[in-house]
Formats: sequence, C-alpha cells, structure tokens
Amino acid sequence: MADITTLFFDLGGVLLTNGWDRHVRRHCIETFGLDYEEFRDRHDLVAAEFETGRMTRHEYLQRTVFYRERSFTPEAFWEAMLAESQALPDALAVVEELAATGNFLLATLNNESLELNQARIERFGLRRYFTAFFSSGFLGVKKPDQAIYRLALQIIQRSPDECVFVDDRDLNLECAITEGMHTIHYEDPSQLRSELTGLGINLRE
Ligand SMILES: [Mg+2]
Repeated sequence: MADITTLFFDLGGVLLTNGWDRHVRRHCIETFGLDYEEFRDRHDLVAAEFETGRMTRHEYLQRTVFYRERSFTPEAFWEAMLAESQALPDALAVVEELAATGNFLLATLNNESLELNQARIERFGLRRYFTAFFSSGFLGVKKPDQAIYRLALQIIQRSPDECVFVDDRDLNLECAITEGMHTIHYEDPSQLRSELTGLGINLRE
C-alpha cells in the first residue's frame, strides 16, 4: 500500500454541523414564521445552481424567500442561516493533530454554496488546517459526481492510492472508491482515529 500523503475531508456532519441541509432549512424557515412547504418547492428548483456557484446567496434568497415583501431583511435571514452552524470539536481535534504532524496535505471536499462555505471557513478558522478547499461552490461540480473527485486529484496532483477521503455519507464514497482513493465512512471521532491508524497514519509525531 502506498504511503498516505493527502487527506480530503467532508465538512457537514464530520467537522461542522451541516450548513444548509433539510433540518437546518426547516428550522430557519420556521423561526421566521414562513411556510416550509412553499419554501421547499422554491428551494428544490434552485438548489443545484446555488450549491455549484451559479447562483449567489442574494439571488438564492430572492428566489426562495424575498420574492414577496417580508418583515425582516435578507441580511437578518443570512445571519440566521450562519448561526445554525456549529463546530464539531472532537473531530476537528483529529484534523488539528494531523496538521500538527506536518506530514500530510489536508483539503476539504464538500458540497456547499459558495458564500456559506467561505463564511464557515472564516468563522471556524479552517485555513489553519487545510491547504485547499474543493467545494462545489468553487468547482461547479458536486458530490457524488465522479467529476469532483477527479478534479480534486488533478488539481492537487496526487495519485489516488496515496489519498484518503472522509465523508459521513456512503453515497459520496462510491465514486472516490471507483477513482482508487482510500475512504473512511465517518461515524464518530474515535472510529475516525482507529481507521486512520489502520491506514498507517500516525497522529502523534
Ligand atoms: Mg456530510
């Protein structure tokens, strides 16, 4: 087995809570007293554009919430969207240890709309650990499309057998496996630690 040089991490459900998934959307929509069904139909129509950087957050909010007059501002809604995000410190601690060894190239590989992703990178200080951010909002393609894994490997110039991809959804791992990468189906921090060890990765150096 080739030595591991590179690790790609999903963000939502692994290192941070999900940014704008179904539960977060519902909670936010209900907080503002809006009709969730109505919002959902509109969200579904533009979700792919929003997640692949073809629609700004301003355009997205215009289409899904501010298509009629509201008693709150888009800025207030955006702040509420951001406020839903939390760090998952025990998993981030694993990434911090990996970064501290200085032995690995660490990158994210995640589906997230561009501005939400940038705001979360900033808020949680993710540039401390990661060198590159392969986000759907930047790349214009998203998981589980084969293209995003291929693009990440091409840009980072690593062979798949020296790379590990960590994600909490099985479906997202399939194409990474096809591409020849090692994968970890993330469940919790201690399982992550033991799977990393199983791949010959030493967290303490
Ligand atoms: Mg996830």
